[in-house]
Amino acid sequence: MVYYFSIMDSYLYTDVRDVKNMMKHEFQVGKAKVLLTIGDITQMETDAIVNAANSTLMGGGGVDGAIHRKGGAKILEECKRIRAREYPAGLPTGKAVMTSGGNLKAKYVIHTVGPVWQGGNQCEPELLAEAYRNSLMLASSKGLKTIAFPSISTGAYGYPIGMASRIAQTTVKDFLEKEDKLGKVVFVLLSERDLEVYEKTIRQVLKLS
Ligand code: ADP
Repeated sequence: MVYYFSIMDSYLYTDVRDVKNMMKHEFQVGKAKVLLTIGDITQMETDAIVNAANSTLMGGGGVDGAIHRKGGAKILEECKRIRAREYPAGLPTGKAVMTSGGNLKAKYVIHTVGPVWQGGNQCEPELLAEAYRNSLMLASSKGLKTIAFPSISTGAYGYPIGMASRIAQTTVKDFLEKEDKLGKVVFVLLSERDLEVYEKTIRQVLKLS
């Protein structure tokens, strides 16, 4: 029963088997919780969800397309204003900007651009870490408490997920250990296979059994 009080309120009435399964994917880092889950990031109720955008900020395929479709025209309008005002040539890889969440459950969308995988010698690891770090810094600087990430760059941009998940989780861990304003970081994976990769990696990054 003790589980019921250590899990998010929305899960209060799930059965014990589900709760145990969730516990497997919940980790404490500093004062924050890191969760791994399967799902559609557009359904998340975190303060912000992160969009694996492209530098145009005009929408695209994958998670970017899903966010703009569900979020509605308001997000695109705000992206256009950001482009006109701050980034006429496009958002550089590794940088992050924020819009409202439009019709999404999340209040905000943080748009970041991950690197395209080109074999690993074109600063891809540093740029991917930057994309996560700048998203976390932006959320924290705006006073947000909870944020959900997709697996940036591992779809159309072709970054091998084993390497990408290690960078994602190491960057989140380093950030949360230094900074205690964020309360929850969720990695939302689209498949069981991706979840397994993240699960294995996080145990190595956090030096768990
Ligand atoms: P990138 O161009 O950065 O590779 P993609 O959107 O192509 O971005 O893919 C990034 C990851 O997001 C992939 O693992 C893909 O399976 C996943 N993804 C796609 N749609 C969703 C969604 N609605 N919710 C969560 N993850 C998603």
